[in-house]
Amino acid sequence: MQTASSKHELRSQLAEHRGKRIVFVPTMGALHEGHASLMRQARALAGAEGIVVASIFLNPVQFDNAGDLATYPQTPEADLAVCRCCGVDFVFMPTPDTMYCADRSMVLEENCLSNVLCGARRPGHFAGVCLVVSKLFNIVQPTDAVFGKKDYQQLAILRRMVRDLDIPVTIHGAEIVREADGLALSSRNVRLTPEHRAAAPAIHRSLLAARVQYEQGTPAAEVCRHVIDTLFRIPGVRVDYVELVDAETLHELQQPSRPALLAVAAYFGEVRLIDNVELPALS
Ligand code: AMP
Repeated sequence: MQTASSKHELRSQLAEHRGKRIVFVPTMGALHEGHASLMRQARALAGAEGIVVASIFLNPVQFDNAGDLATYPQTPEADLAVCRCCGVDFVFMPTPDTMYCADRSMVLEENCLSNVLCGARRPGHFAGVCLVVSKLFNIVQPTDAVFGKKDYQQLAILRRMVRDLDIPVTIHGAEIVREADGLALSSRNVRLTPEHRAAAPAIHRSLLAARVQYEQGTPAAEVCRHVIDTLFRIPGVRVDYVELVDAETLHELQQPSRPALLAVAAYFGEVRLIDNVELPALS
């Protein structure tokens, strides 16, 4: 496995591999089993002939909260060990200064899917994600990229980005990896207090219960209300949103015959957790 910290270095490492299948996994580091599953999926997609590239870059441009950026865990040595174990061939680890010019003036905004859920509550977040991912795509020039469904809205927006900008990258979605108790793995979980860590699996439990209710015909508003009520009862928890939306448009579900998504964001103390569950199209 080779590492690179400058764009130039990575480009020259990849030069001899152009023409092969290049599968890319962008991350912000503090890698856990969720990231590892993306890397293993990338390895399987690339096969023996192709190559896997991962990036570890804590992108300041996508943070709408300075405290969240300042406290984001960083574990570069352990991250490299995870990449190595998962069969990654190249790791790109730039600094903010090597990624961005001080007077950068381009913005890249998606204007439909970004207006709801997390996008409505985190101004500039998805513009920052689109900017960094498009830059990374230009640097790595992958044929494929893998993103987790844990960040379902991000995945949908990036699919839209490559579609609308004709970026020749196939986007793959990877299933959410969870702790044994159901909590979705997240780099932010280490910042939970022991009490909040113990309470946090309630998110997934309430989503699973909601899915059953939805399948039995309970109206969307009532399904959401049950999840909100469950989370509201946990001390120190503030619900940011619980919404049942069309899984493709991420806007209001017009007909139950379409696949849906039940998405949650909640603050456990200072830590904002997100999770979701896909809901089947109802006949
Ligand atoms: P991040 O480092 O948080 O930017 O995440 C990098 C990639 O890992 C994104 O595509 C995330 O959706 C994905 N990811 C993070 N946590 C999980 C998880 N628990 N299961 C699956 N994918 C995940």
